[in-house]
Amino acid sequence: MGFEIGRFQGEVDEELVCPICSGVLEEPVQAPQCEHAFCTACIQEWLSRQHTCPVDRNSITPQQLKAVPRILRNLLSRFSRVTRWGGMISTPDAVLQAVIKRSLIDSACPAHIVTELMESAHERNWPPGLNTLETRQLNRHTYEQYVTRRIPGKQAVVVMSHDNQHMGEDFTLDPGLVMIFAHGIE
Ligand SMILES: [Zn+2]
Ligand SMILES: [Zn+2]
Repeated sequence: MGFEIGRFQGEVDEELVCPICSGVLEEPVQAPQCEHAFCTACIQEWLSRQHTCPVDRNSITPQQLKAVPRILRNLLSRFSRVTRWGGMISTPDAVLQAVIKRSLIDSACPAHIVTELMESAHERNWPPGLNTLETRQLNRHTYEQYVTRRIPGKQAVVVMSHDNQHMGEDFTLDPGLVMIFAHGIE
C-alpha cells in the first residue's frame, strides 16, 4: 500500500484502534457478538484472566474469536509498525534525506507537502517531545503510540498530525514529520 496522503482526513478511525493497548490494531481478531476488535496478543492476554469483552463485558472465550472483515484489514494495511524504535536515525545526512525525498515524490505525495515533510526529517526540527536524545529516552513509551505510514520501500515512516491527534502537540507537527530508521519497519 502506498503513502496516500489526504485519503484519510480527521482522526484515525476509532474502529482501527485496539481498546486494550490504544495502538493501531495488530493482527486483529473480533468478538463474536459485539464485534469489538482487538490485537490478537492483547485479547489473548486479557482472556487468560477473564472471559469477557473489555469494552462491554459480554462473555467471550478464546475459541470464539474470529477474523475481522477484509475491509478492516485493508484499512489497517495503510499503516505501518515500527518494531525497533532504537534504530531511529535522528540526524540523517543530505544523501539519506534525498533518497527518502525521492521515494515520497515517487509515491505521489504532493510536492509542497514533500518539502514540508522533509524539513522535519531531522531532530533539530522535531517537536519538543522528541528533539533530543534525553527527551526521547524520557518519552519513549509515549512516542511508541505513534500511528505511522510507511514511505514505500524505505525504512522510514511519516507521522501525520491528523493521524496522531491523540499524541498531543509536543509530539506532532503539521502536516507531519519524517522518521528514518536503520531497520525495524514493517
Ligand atoms: Zn492491542
Ligand atoms: Zn464487546
